[in-house]
Amino acid sequence: MGNYISAMAKSGDVICYVIDSTGIAARAERIHRTSSTVTAALGRLLTAASLMGGRLKGERDSLTIQLKGNGPAGSFLAVAESTGDVRGYVQNPVVELPLNQHGKLDVAGVVGKEGYLHIVRDFGFGEPYIGNTPIVSGEIAEDITHYYVTSEQIPTVCALGVLVNTDLTVLKAGGFLLQLLPGAGEDIIEKLEANVNAMPPITQILSEGKSPDDIAGMLLDGFEYDIMERHTTEYRCDCSRERVERALITLGADDLAEMAKEQPVTKVECHFCPKIYRFNADELRGLIDRAQDDTAK
Ligand code: ZN
Repeated sequence: MGNYISAMAKSGDVICYVIDSTGIAARAERIHRTSSTVTAALGRLLTAASLMGGRLKGERDSLTIQLKGNGPAGSFLAVAESTGDVRGYVQNPVVELPLNQHGKLDVAGVVGKEGYLHIVRDFGFGEPYIGNTPIVSGEIAEDITHYYVTSEQIPTVCALGVLVNTDLTVLKAGGFLLQLLPGAGEDIIEKLEANVNAMPPITQILSEGKSPDDIAGMLLDGFEYDIMERHTTEYRCDCSRERVERALITLGADDLAEMAKEQPVTKVECHFCPKIYRFNADELRGLIDRAQDDTAK
């Protein structure tokens, strides 16, 4: 089964990626204790990052989206692996706004309608690919579409949705990317537009019990297609004590000595997951030695 699939038209000029990201958005809400509107915003961004991460080819490739708008939630960060596994962070998790004029959670209000989307594709070696595009609406799906069209010149339709329960937990989340590959003609574009326009919101489709396979079938209605990939993606943080140690060492010997003096145990919290790493004075001194070795090199 799996909650993530990609499917390509047999003609080779259309591809879609579809995810049921309910588990991912729910885990993010439990970790970050977000207000309902921020849950929707972070859930949409994580959904987009997972979809985009799944497009990467290399095993070590990763993708980072920083969404920096002028809204009260501050900046959002999502990091996806090429497996589609994803983790995220938001600067101000508990800001809340009234519903917007459509009676929906005001995602654009908490994100902000001005700012930029900063996307880094890291290939595990060499220079990463960096794309910067301005925020166009703050609703995130349109901003991702705009990124693909202007920065990567790939005609794209993106839909993202998160439904939040009244108890603030996540009911449903999901999304898709539909992309044209070189050679797609006008007739294909018209057919796809008709398919997309006929679709209800993605969270409604998922609430009716439909799967990513069903959604791919709706997007590619009238096309013969193959399922390219099908797997499970989840919210996953890859932090470790070793990584935290390396980060502390980069602070330098002086700062570490200061920390060792200030309190008997220094706590370092991961931004992306609930893990807390503790270092006592002896352990910090070990890191100070390593920091000094680094500067001596
Ligand atoms: Zn972590």
